[in-house]
Amino acid sequence: MRILVVEDEQKVADALREGLEDERYDVVVERTGEGAFFRVNTETFDVILLDLTLPGRDGLEILRALRQRRTETPVLVLTARDSLEDRVTGLDAGADDYLVKPFAFAELLARLRALVRRGRAADAPRLSVGDLEMDLVTRKVMRGGRHVDLTVREFELLEFLMRYQGQVVSRETLARDVWKETARTTPLDNVIDVHIARLRRKVDLDQAVKLIHTVRGVGFMLREGEP
Ligand code: CA
Repeated sequence: MRILVVEDEQKVADALREGLEDERYDVVVERTGEGAFFRVNTETFDVILLDLTLPGRDGLEILRALRQRRTETPVLVLTARDSLEDRVTGLDAGADDYLVKPFAFAELLARLRALVRRGRAADAPRLSVGDLEMDLVTRKVMRGGRHVDLTVREFELLEFLMRYQGQVVSRETLARDVWKETARTTPLDNVIDVHIARLRRKVDLDQAVKLIHTVRGVGFMLREGEP
């Protein structure tokens, strides 16, 4: 489970990282809004913890920009401000939940778990995007009611893209999480591109609505309609 923590105060960021790593979350910390925005557009996260008061572009601006780009990663906003107005603004900007500092760590964990459950349905035996359906138990894939025959690797690749639907998935992420290649001694970019091309032929060929999109210079995204 990967969490992006966006927090400029070193002490708070360190405490969050330590606490979340103890809970076996994979934590990435960004200290600026710009940094966070770049990360989210190049990597996948299961949830984003976003502090509102940041130097440069603040948390609300980042949140609006992400939602405008239709990034659907669940966002839990953290802030010291606790006026009703800020809360409403945060939720309007696309936050999924809201936690006012100072908060109990147990409360943060509970909210995170709830968000991840809602956002990803990790335990659901089926995944779907538009008329594309994947049954994780029988490992059957259907597009518009028609069976799609995939190799084991193609299935794993499609499953990953479906779990992170609406998010940009980089080749680096695919190498790490689908091919389990961490060393990067042998770049897998070509192998990945070949698999994506095959997956495209099987999933999108002759379909009016394309689901697999290339995000130039970054990676791929699975969603209904252009990203
Ligand atoms: Ca701050």
